[in-house]
Amino acid sequence: MAANRQRNRLLVGFLAGSLLVIALFSAIAYTSARDYHWHQIPHLLQDHSQQLLATLPERPTLEQIQKLLPEYETAHDALLLLDAEGRVVPSPQGSQSLPPVPSEQLSQPEGQFQQDDARYIWVTRAIPGTPYRLVTLHRAIDGGLAEFVRYVGVPMGFATLLGVWAAVWGALIVGSLFERLDRQRYQLQHQAAHDPLTDLPNRDTLGHAIDAAIQTTTDRRPLAVCLVDLQAFKEINDSLGHTCGDELLRQVASRLRSVVHAPDAVGRFYGNKFAVLLQQQDASTVEDIGERLLGVLEPAFTVDDRSLFIRGTLGIAFHPQHAEDAAGLLQRAETATFQARSGNRPLAVYQETDNDAAARRLGLANDLRNALHDEQLNLYYQSKLDLRTGRVIGAEALARWIHPEHGFIPPDQFVDIAERTGLIKQLTAWVLQTTVRRAAECRAHGRSLKFSANLSAINLHDEELVPMVARLLEEHRLPPPQLVLEVTETAMMLDPDHAREQLNRLDALGVHISIDDFGTGYSSLGHLRQLPVDEIKIDKSFVMDMNANEDDASIVRATIGLAHDLNLQVVAEGVEDADILNNLRAMGCDIAQGYHIARPLPEADFIAFVQCCETENGAKADPDGADPSTQLAGLTAIQAAGD
Ligand code: C2E
Ligand code: CA
Repeated sequence: MAANRQRNRLLVGFLAGSLLVIALFSAIAYTSARDYHWHQIPHLLQDHSQQLLATLPERPTLEQIQKLLPEYETAHDALLLLDAEGRVVPSPQGSQSLPPVPSEQLSQPEGQFQQDDARYIWVTRAIPGTPYRLVTLHRAIDGGLAEFVRYVGVPMGFATLLGVWAAVWGALIVGSLFERLDRQRYQLQHQAAHDPLTDLPNRDTLGHAIDAAIQTTTDRRPLAVCLVDLQAFKEINDSLGHTCGDELLRQVASRLRSVVHAPDAVGRFYGNKFAVLLQQQDASTVEDIGERLLGVLEPAFTVDDRSLFIRGTLGIAFHPQHAEDAAGLLQRAETATFQARSGNRPLAVYQETDNDAAARRLGLANDLRNALHDEQLNLYYQSKLDLRTGRVIGAEALARWIHPEHGFIPPDQFVDIAERTGLIKQLTAWVLQTTVRRAAECRAHGRSLKFSANLSAINLHDEELVPMVARLLEEHRLPPPQLVLEVTETAMMLDPDHAREQLNRLDALGVHISIDDFGTGYSSLGHLRQLPVDEIKIDKSFVMDMNANEDDASIVRATIGLAHDLNLQVVAEGVEDADILNNLRAMGCDIAQGYHIARPLPEADFIAFVQCCETENGAKADPDGADPSTQLAGLTAIQAAGD
């Protein structure tokens, strides 16, 4: 619409301009032609006089001259005679009604003057053999439009046609040039303000929008900034490639956009983080919208024919409670996402006290790289008890970080950091190497223990994982079933097809696969049937309270039954007291793990614990009747030292 208006304006401008130029040039051409014509008249008049004089005898008398004059006069040319004093000699026939030539000029051989609408041009010539001079006076009439057309009509007609044609073309060309420039300018402005991948407003633009919204918030109704952080996006990006990651981000952007309506806005903060500005909403509505934002991310994304599941964590910060400007609000909202993660919640509103913790957390990311080199990391081993035999049949290797400054840092914190920074591959490589070596050493001492190690989602997409496990088993001559790899359901569901391929390869090596934290994720035993799984670990959240909570007990009982139907071993983690242990045994659970049996112990303590168990078992010499809870009573000293 605007482009059309501009083109019309240009067309009118060009046409007017070209017609003006044509008119100007026509006027100049006409004036020049007329002046040239007038300039030629004296010569014609001279010729005319000359013809007249040529017909006169050698010394003509006044009479002879006057007689001849009328023959040479025309409607526009009058002939006069001047005597020696310059006075007009009266004509016997009477003079034409021509204005008298100003006498003071008649001393000149030629000249012209303007009178009324006409121009008069005269020339004088001496009549040889007489004292008289002949004056030929020509009246050049201004021919008006007719003369104008005669002089410049045809060329001007052509020029006008050409000019109009040129003007139209010129207007169209310049119009399209302007349009293109406008488009380019718009594109440049758009590019500068938007994220090229998702076409969402970029961080700066969103920041300006937030600041502008703050300025116009008059009634101090809360203005909120939400930050959506995509979990495990790095894994997808690293394992499936950036093209896949980019496509996923585009789809995420479009889903988020579907929830946010003007004047609210969604933008890309950076990487896998999106920020949303919500205006004029009360706190509970903001939380509702936050849940909707997370909800739209739940259905599977389809990228390259793969179904990808991704979860988001959402942090909320309110103006003016949490910050006064955009930068502050965005920073607080990001901090709130850390708070949500560490509280294992999908959504959190910023709380002042979290700022320090979040800052420390960010700082830790830098330290973790050094920690791997400086041997600040350690593996602790948490025993697993066979509930039928009462023997320790293996242990789970759990990483520990003793930070030189901050002391003990729980794995829940640094594994997450390792996943975010990409250090998880190195961390897992180190864990697997240490675990396989430990298992091989135990075997060398005649103890056939199974050791489990935890895998992160990103490991499932690491093409180097399977060759590395194969190499370690080979190098340490460990029978593959003595290594158990624990994978959470959530990690597998990120990209189920790829995860299945990777698990099949591990299964082909002969190592055992355990589904960790069972019950907290997608929990589909039917789905497990399609995977090469050997064991499931019921999450401790169900086990710890099962004696007090009938629902939890039912879940545990049902899971044990279903898993056995699928020929899977069941491990219950989080066994904190003897009652739970006995209950699990009564339910038919195969293996138990928990503080009541043993806390995660440093290597030496774990070996001492296993030896102690062996001695106890040997002393009882009654494997069938071994009561683990009695047996474990004597081990308290080792456990206390270990944790
Ligand atoms: P997880 O794999 O579910 O490990 C079990 C966690 O439950 C361990 O916490 C263990 O100390 C704790 N636990 C065991 N028995 C009991 C009990 O009776 N009561 C209670 N309340 N807790 C019990 P930890 O060692 O802090 O590890 C936490 C999580 O960190 C692990 O959860 C695992 O997901 C992750 N993690 C630890 N080490 C590694 C590792 O080497 N690699 C990876 N990828 N993740 C690791
Ligand atoms: Ca585990």
